[in-house]
Amino acid sequence: MIRVGFGFDVHQLVEGRELWLGGVLIPHSTGALGHSDADVLLHALCDALLGAAALGDIGQHFPDTDSRWKGADSKRLLEGVVQLLAQKDWTVGNVDCTLILERPKIMPYVPAMRQAIAPLLKVDVDAVSIKATTSEKLGYIGREEGVAAHAVALIQRGA
Ligand code: MG
Repeated sequence: MIRVGFGFDVHQLVEGRELWLGGVLIPHSTGALGHSDADVLLHALCDALLGAAALGDIGQHFPDTDSRWKGADSKRLLEGVVQLLAQKDWTVGNVDCTLILERPKIMPYVPAMRQAIAPLLKVDVDAVSIKATTSEKLGYIGREEGVAAHAVALIQRGA
């Protein structure tokens, strides 16, 4: 059996925060604001995986009111999601993510992101796709006030 899921997330970009995207620290003048490390790509991916298994969303499993997740490395959240899926006998097939931000250019960091994510999902690197686009200077992303990510995930179990 296969199932597909979709995830979306947004974080504000502010000075004085680190910019973590896809499990990789990216040198930049602003960073994403959030309770955890605010890795928008990993959060969208968590929601895609949870959605595929109809297991709710990231806010339900890792609430931002819980001090355990303050400053948390989102790679640990993604690991937790993969464990939740494993409890229901789901394994990950492939994932496809799109980051939307104006700056910086993301392409140089994509190989490191795929390398970081693949082992957490227990899949080969070629099952992890990461794409990036800008918002053509339009809206909150265009004004560099925020960063967004979309993700789809396919999960499988049984024959
Ligand atoms: Mg988030």
